[in-house]
Amino acid sequence: MLCYHGVVREKMPFGDFCFIPEDRFRKHMAYVARHCNIVRLRDLPDVGSSKRPNVAITFDDGYQSNHDLALPVLQEFGLPATVFLNTAYIGTCRAPWFCDLIEALSTTKVTSLTYQGREYALTNRANRRFASEDLQKKLKALRSHDLLEEKLNSIVGELGVSRPIDHAGKPTEILDKTSVVRMQVSGLIDFGGHTHSHKILAHVPEDTAAAEIETSLRLTQELTNAPQELFAYPNGGPGDIGSAAERVLRKNGISLAVTTSPKHYSRQSRNLRVPRYPIGGHISDAWFRAFIWGQFQHYGSVRKLLKGARASS
Ligand SMILES: [Zn+2]
Repeated sequence: MLCYHGVVREKMPFGDFCFIPEDRFRKHMAYVARHCNIVRLRDLPDVGSSKRPNVAITFDDGYQSNHDLALPVLQEFGLPATVFLNTAYIGTCRAPWFCDLIEALSTTKVTSLTYQGREYALTNRANRRFASEDLQKKLKALRSHDLLEEKLNSIVGELGVSRPIDHAGKPTEILDKTSVVRMQVSGLIDFGGHTHSHKILAHVPEDTAAAEIETSLRLTQELTNAPQELFAYPNGGPGDIGSAAERVLRKNGISLAVTTSPKHYSRQSRNLRVPRYPIGGHISDAWFRAFIWGQFQHYGSVRKLLKGARASS
């Protein structure tokens, strides 16, 4: 199971794990088209056995680039994929909270920032990237979405940027409704929910978690006019899922939910905890092939590889 996010053509002000260059994405798709048996997520677990590795392609958050840049590549190779939507931002110029941080750090004229006693230099690509990754990690560690929003507002304010932030035309821009429909009409793309506004479910009260899940499923159904069976947990780590999510998903008829635990899917995998490999721009070709073929000499190194780099999911 491969988990992508956005695809970018132009170089971003600083790199981010979640935005993979178009040429690398195309290379990955050419590889899986040639060597793998591509399965639709909705067909799991009933996929036939094959000598070629079974691979499912997924995208989280629903970036406009999934339509503009990824879809033509998927069409070229005839590859089906699933896109998980944050429905609050469809057809708006807004995006999930970490996109606001990325955009504020990309456009700020400020050359340094202090957060919790630590000073971050913002003078070049490398230190802006470090600030983005470290701040995302620290904000997620607050374990309260309300507190995260409060801290994010003050960081963004210190950067001289005010929210809401306009993401139109940026790599962080979220899909519009017409693009969602076009992707569906292509016959290659299935959609699933990814919560309404990308709140980590373990970091909100249970009723908020339920509303986040149910709103995303209802609006995705309205957008696509298709029954909803698929869901992806925001951030997707074992500690991010929370106590209410699986019950709410089952109640809403969700048969398959995906995480970002970097492991191979097997028939023994729990259908509401299906693992995926997060794929970002810095994943080498060797690692990409290892993910596909399951050839790891040291499993622990997968986590090390992804640690920190997987800023958002
Ligand atoms: Zn996500």
